[in-house]
Amino acid sequence: MRIHHLNTGTMCPIGRRLVNGTGHIFQRARMVCHCLLIETRDGLALVDTGIGLGDIANPMQLSRRWVRQTAPRLDPAETAVQQVKALGYAPGDVRHLLLTHLDRDHAGGIPDFPNARVHVLRAEYEMAVLGKPAAPKGRYVTEQWRHGPDWALYDDGGESWFGFKGVRALGDREPDILMIPLPGHTMGHCGIAVRDKDKWWLHAGDAYFFHGQLQPKVRIPLVLGYFQRRVDMDRDARLANQERLRTLQLQHGSEVTVINSHDPVHYENCRCGRH
Ligand SMILES: [Zn+2]
Repeated sequence: MRIHHLNTGTMCPIGRRLVNGTGHIFQRARMVCHCLLIETRDGLALVDTGIGLGDIANPMQLSRRWVRQTAPRLDPAETAVQQVKALGYAPGDVRHLLLTHLDRDHAGGIPDFPNARVHVLRAEYEMAVLGKPAAPKGRYVTEQWRHGPDWALYDDGGESWFGFKGVRALGDREPDILMIPLPGHTMGHCGIAVRDKDKWWLHAGDAYFFHGQLQPKVRIPLVLGYFQRRVDMDRDARLANQERLRTLQLQHGSEVTVINSHDPVHYENCRCGRH
């Protein structure tokens, strides 16, 4: 099994020092949308989809406020579908989209793979798609699934995995891919664990925002910490899950590498093979 690390959407908000923790306050920060492209026996699987061509064609569907605050680059070459093509595959080769959650910067690429199955936790689907219970106003961009994708929904439970529980996503025949509930950022937020030979990746989505949050002495830049709190749906659950992720990384760091969606340090480490 081969795993590619893709950045499917660079965001450049102001205040680099307060977002990235380095550089100058007047420089623009850099955040990424870190996705995994996995070669499985049943075609390609994409973990998260970043910003899509539809968002770039019509940025206002992302909301004026979100675009102003996050300043996405909106470069078509960064979309998952264009990067899949650049790697020599056809978009139709992507058979599965596994989503940590359905926020706009994770779900934007869904319509670029209209025939792929979309795998999410049931709680995420119910709030984002069915509005049961209603999502906070403006939280989800429902245009991103207006074409009616083929959803695969997962409940809590499944098998034990380093102190977490997860449901196997693509069946037993496939490489090990588990959907692991990590609620807090959204109610149906999950991490996606992928086995790569004798090691595991855990893509923890937006369960934490900054690599320093997994270190023994927790730290996060000021503005990034503010962003994180502002988009919490359940703060206590988010904090409890961050603690579990920190413990996982400290106790099992030789077997599991935890990464997230937006931290450029994680992403560069993966691209350079340092993780
Ligand atoms: Zn996000």
